[in-house]
Amino acid sequence: MADISIKFPDGKVKAFPAGSSAADVAKSISISLAKEAVAAKFNGKLVDYLAPLSDDGSIEIVTKKDAEGLAVLRNTTAALLRIALKKAFPAIRLGEVSADEDGFYVDTDKDDQQVSADELDSLAVIVEKLVSDKLDIKRISLSKDDALASVKGDQYSSELIKAIDGDEVSFLQIGEYQVLSDGAQLVNTGDVKHFKFLSVAGAYWQGKSSNPMLQRIYGTAFYNQADLDEDLKKRQEARERDHRVIGNQLDLFFVDPKVGAGLPYWMPNGATIRRVIERYIIDKEVANGYQHVYTPVLANLDLYKQSGHWAHYREDMFPPMDMGDGEELELRPMNCPSHIQIYNHHIRSYRELPMRIAELGMMHRYEKSGALSGLQRVREMTLNDGHTFVAPDQIQEEFKSILRLMVKVYDDFDIKDYTFRLSYRDPKNTEKYFDDDEMWNKAQAMLKGAMDELGFDYVEAEGEAAFYGPKLDVQTKTALGNEETLSTIQLDFMMPERFDLHYVGADGEEHRPVMIHRGLVSTMERFVAYLTEIYKGAFPTWLAPKQVTIIPVSEQKNGAYADKLAAELKAADVRVNVDKRGEKMGYLIRDAQTHKIPYTLVVGDDEMNNGSVSVRKYGEEDSVSESSDAFVKQVLADIASYSRD
Ligand code: ATP
Ligand code: ZN
Repeated sequence: MADISIKFPDGKVKAFPAGSSAADVAKSISISLAKEAVAAKFNGKLVDYLAPLSDDGSIEIVTKKDAEGLAVLRNTTAALLRIALKKAFPAIRLGEVSADEDGFYVDTDKDDQQVSADELDSLAVIVEKLVSDKLDIKRISLSKDDALASVKGDQYSSELIKAIDGDEVSFLQIGEYQVLSDGAQLVNTGDVKHFKFLSVAGAYWQGKSSNPMLQRIYGTAFYNQADLDEDLKKRQEARERDHRVIGNQLDLFFVDPKVGAGLPYWMPNGATIRRVIERYIIDKEVANGYQHVYTPVLANLDLYKQSGHWAHYREDMFPPMDMGDGEELELRPMNCPSHIQIYNHHIRSYRELPMRIAELGMMHRYEKSGALSGLQRVREMTLNDGHTFVAPDQIQEEFKSILRLMVKVYDDFDIKDYTFRLSYRDPKNTEKYFDDDEMWNKAQAMLKGAMDELGFDYVEAEGEAAFYGPKLDVQTKTALGNEETLSTIQLDFMMPERFDLHYVGADGEEHRPVMIHRGLVSTMERFVAYLTEIYKGAFPTWLAPKQVTIIPVSEQKNGAYADKLAAELKAADVRVNVDKRGEKMGYLIRDAQTHKIPYTLVVGDDEMNNGSVSVRKYGEEDSVSESSDAFVKQVLADIASYSRD
């Protein structure tokens, strides 16, 4: 047989007999490589380790250490799960399968009685047997007709087969079982040792909400137990930090899709946290020269036609309300046009610039239902919004002062884990953006210049700009590991043009201001979600919905003393309650810890007689006794300590 020439990543080329496999190539390089290898990338495409190579091409051996190596392992684990599902439930129908760096899933449909989380362990037992049998995994090819016959009665697998190009369908033969194949596979089931089926959740067939809901089984697999253990630990930690879970435990908020997906209800505890943040941020902004306003969430659609939102941002907007008399009202997706009305209401002088208008502005965006997540991504949100109107020569200074304020605010909330991203327009897709090349180049260079001058590190990202201009985004990570924008500062030369904004300069002439859009702490929704995750629900005292709980040992004997203490704390604006449920002391103390209340006070006869309290701080095992006066001082100092002015 003729030889084929195989090119290695270092550029070297070597001849192999046609029909050689990646395994032959790996062995020719080194035995240790062959031991670690599980597949190969041939001409950029992932192929089975034993697949015969018949053409010239470039090869990269994929080992257990590579991300693709994990995907191969997970493909095979998913294939074994499919066999196990068929064995356990012969009439089950199987939908899509996916494997990647996060794990794998298999979609299933068992009519009324879907696979439940309780059944995952018994499925794992079946898979373990397939693993210990060390079955060879062979690739076979079926004609489309045979393939369809083999999945008869399973409309999902049939649809997947019909969608495959060509007349041949690739299946795996694993022992006596045949499974529809997805992607490159391991050579033997014996290599699937460290796996875990994690959870089940509903998922629409092919992701479309008009399709039937299937049951998706999630799992993961690794080449060694230590990696699996670490991954499971990380998943557990993520669950513990997940703001949706904590939000439920601490009764902060809820979202009921029956009432409205993405429309959160803030319960008293969540509302308290939000109110403290709102007061904090308004005070901070007023002290920094911002003028706070209130403007309506509804406006005539023409406003958003003029601003460019209707042309560039319509997908994210709720449809206009036809009022029947020719008027169309729109729920605002952004507050900028509203603040422009405030600016334009008077003739402005250069002496008023930079003019800083701010609002906790409620806005509505029609986010895709699949993207909604707790408070993290919602459809009605209140943005800590601000727009600064500046003369062109004030841009850099104002940008820097906003950034300094933002860093200060972050410090008060103890936010440390964030990165800066300069978001530019996508040069290949310019029709999505306001059309003015010179403006874009100038504005992007200006932002970069300011960041360099301040000496901050940043990454640059094309395609992430707003339609009206480039921005600086502050990126953070959610508990689930997704990157989200928290704060943003955006330069805008467009809206001042569109709304024909002016100020009267020192020369007495009219000039065009530039707008800077900025959100310091994002929307109240996303910010509270973020804080809940970084604090794991243990809010610092100044933000905690309840700061102190007082438990009288005997309500009858010590209740009045507890009430007196509570009144004193309340008078000093401390959020305090007296727990008079009369349950066992141990239970009440544990309950206060579960609700992550910063201070739990126990007062009995001793405390009452000498004017003291027994104080237990959240997360500490021991209580300390101190005079009630000293405690009041301590808690007030703790509340004030967030500010490092
Ligand atoms: P994203 O890329 O996250 O959709 P964006 O770039 O469209 O946001 P902006 O118009 O800059 O967002 O909105 C200002 C801020 O409001 C964002 O930086 C983000 O923190 C927050 N935000 C945006 N959309 C939502 C939402 N659906 N739910 C909660 N907060 C949001
Ligand atoms: Zn804006």
